[in-house]
Amino acid sequence: MDRKEIIRKKQEFVYPATSNYYADPLPIERGEMQHVWDVEGRKYLDFFGGIVTVGVGHANPRITAPVKAQMDKLGHTSTLYPHQTMVELAEKIAQITPGRISKSFFTASGTEANETAIQSARMHTGNTEIVVLRHSYSGRSSLTRSMGGISAWRKANYEVGIVHTMSPYCYRCPIGLKYPSCEIACAKDIENVIQSSTSGAIAGMLAEPIQGVGGYIVPPKEFFKIAFKIVKEYGGDFISDEVQTGWGRTGKKWFGIEHWEVEPDIITGAKSLGNGYPIGLTAATPEIANAYEGPTISTFGGNPIAMVTAKAVIDLIEEDDLITNCDVVGGYLQEKLKELQEKYPCIGEVRGMGLMQAIELVTDPVTKEPATALAVEVMEAARERGLLIGKGGVYNNVLRMAPPMNISKSDVDEAAAILSESFAAVMAATYATA
Ligand code: PMP
Repeated sequence: MDRKEIIRKKQEFVYPATSNYYADPLPIERGEMQHVWDVEGRKYLDFFGGIVTVGVGHANPRITAPVKAQMDKLGHTSTLYPHQTMVELAEKIAQITPGRISKSFFTASGTEANETAIQSARMHTGNTEIVVLRHSYSGRSSLTRSMGGISAWRKANYEVGIVHTMSPYCYRCPIGLKYPSCEIACAKDIENVIQSSTSGAIAGMLAEPIQGVGGYIVPPKEFFKIAFKIVKEYGGDFISDEVQTGWGRTGKKWFGIEHWEVEPDIITGAKSLGNGYPIGLTAATPEIANAYEGPTISTFGGNPIAMVTAKAVIDLIEEDDLITNCDVVGGYLQEKLKELQEKYPCIGEVRGMGLMQAIELVTDPVTKEPATALAVEVMEAARERGLLIGKGGVYNNVLRMAPPMNISKSDVDEAAAILSESFAAVMAATYATA
């Protein structure tokens, strides 16, 4: 099919709500490590990996070879039967996850991973209420949608017993304070939220260590320590949603929450754990895992193909020391983005950790008016020049970058040059029409 036919058939046969990232949709045909090609043969440097998903490169033969072999042998068991591939992966996860986390439950998506985490915390604590952060994204199910902290993505709050506390969004502090003189008032307020809006006994708090869809919001280093202490005081389990931040992407550590020196009770994973193959992971301490009563079956959870994929991904990250690469190349990407910020005052903030970096665009760096239209224009201009990046944030004015974890500094140079050209072109067009 050519691109016109793909787009026409998508309009005719696919739910319209499935997004088209660009005004002129971009049907991708194939990929090779950090590059993808569209159906017309145009090559792109992929700095978003289909939302932080292709962690170790498109069609990486070190992943596809063992997966193909497993497909030829046995494709499916579900969680019904024990399988070597499942226990091997679970053992590996127990070795690298923080604290006392040592038991895994496998599903097929991040949504299910978070659902399982909440159900586990509820069964373990006997409480039902959940604390989440504003600006968060947890999934598409009724429960996880209700947990979402942006109304445009949540649409409706279906579930009761979920309370939203302030996001540690220092660039736009919700209470107008400045770090560090704020003394992390946003974290301390979690106690007020629990006291005023719950029964006083919670099942737990679920949070992303760096908010992903919310626009790569990096909290002050004290935030999660304070949050964790409050959650414990009110009887809850602490759940770290590592769907975007897991597996070394943030540099130095396997998991985002480890940067904040908190030992979570549960972590959830998905996305880059499968490098494009669907997988969801809920990993918990023995007491929490033992308290989970089911449903006990996830049809696709724990299937050997997903298990082999995820084990190959983790092994590759370890063998090639990609955690260090994320730290070094991610730091370099941040430097390049800061150079860009000096040239373009519309870049209000550069933030992120490792290979999870974002720029927040504003019409004026003093008033910080969100530049939503500009974000779209820059993203489109970058695509025209062969670079794919992401977008997000509460005001949809944040450009997000999360390339495969094995890119090099020369890829960053190429991306930075394209971004610079894109900003220049968009600015020139704005002045020409002003
Ligand atoms: N948690 C986070 C932090 C996410 O970013 C996402 C997906 N964007 C999810 C959960 C849901 O994952 P999935 O789309 O695989 O259900």
